[in-house]
Amino acid sequence: MSAYRGRLAPSPTGLLHLGHARTFWTAQEWARAFGGALVLRNEDIDRERSKPEFVAAMYEDLRWIGLDWQEGPDVGGPFAPYSQSERYDLYSAAWKQLLSRGAIYPCRCSRKDLAQSASAPHDDEDGPIYPGTCRPMPGEHIQAASPKGMNWRFRVPDGEAISFVDAALGAQAFVAGRDFGDFVVWRRDDVPAYQLAVVVDDAAMRITEVVRGADLLRSTARQLLLYRALGLTPPAFYHCPLLLDEHGVRLAKRHDALSIRTMRENGATPCEVRGIWPRSGRAL
Ligand code: GLU
Repeated sequence: MSAYRGRLAPSPTGLLHLGHARTFWTAQEWARAFGGALVLRNEDIDRERSKPEFVAAMYEDLRWIGLDWQEGPDVGGPFAPYSQSERYDLYSAAWKQLLSRGAIYPCRCSRKDLAQSASAPHDDEDGPIYPGTCRPMPGEHIQAASPKGMNWRFRVPDGEAISFVDAALGAQAFVAGRDFGDFVVWRRDDVPAYQLAVVVDDAAMRITEVVRGADLLRSTARQLLLYRALGLTPPAFYHCPLLLDEHGVRLAKRHDALSIRTMRENGATPCEVRGIWPRSGRAL
């Protein structure tokens, strides 16, 4: 087996749909093409939205479509546990590291405050760009024993261009402070945010290439800043173009008719489902 390590990182917050299946299938294609390993990580960090019945459905649907992973919650592996809900200590250590490096600060703004900051330009992925209300002065030292009770934001280097070459979509560049602002790494309800959890896990599980949907391109720029702040080496990235429905809207968990489960119940075979999306190309 080569050093290539890919991953499947589904969130059990609903049924998997065609778009997920396409991304995961692509991840498996590349892991196989490079003779590497595929890791399944259960991204159940959001305790309120994740449901045990979706975890079970997720494994079943992934297997049904023809996916096979070598490490994961159900098969084990050297980097266990593979469910984010069981990896809190790792995220908490990263929070401490970011705090000690002056990279993050507590934010007391409510959702309402943010919505009212009318002049803030809009970041279409996650609402308005944070206007910096709680951002401390440079050099101000923040001390805290734990992240509890507050949102914690990462201070982005305003004006810096974050660029990377995506293996599917080519050269990408986003400007910190313009394309995205100070983002949340730890939530008030004491849950690490997606951006932090995914970086900690991809690094800890030694993932060499992240294959995921193009809706996360801008998140990749944020995550590159986290890798740097944590002194970690980032993986390579391959962002799959998004699948659109008949109205040109990207598929989401609300598209029940396009869930793998519904298609299967309606008599589709795995082979028919896999035949729906265009084949991914790549020079190997
Ligand atoms: N768990 C995320 C999702 O289902 C994917 C995260 C990632 O691939 O980085 O949308």
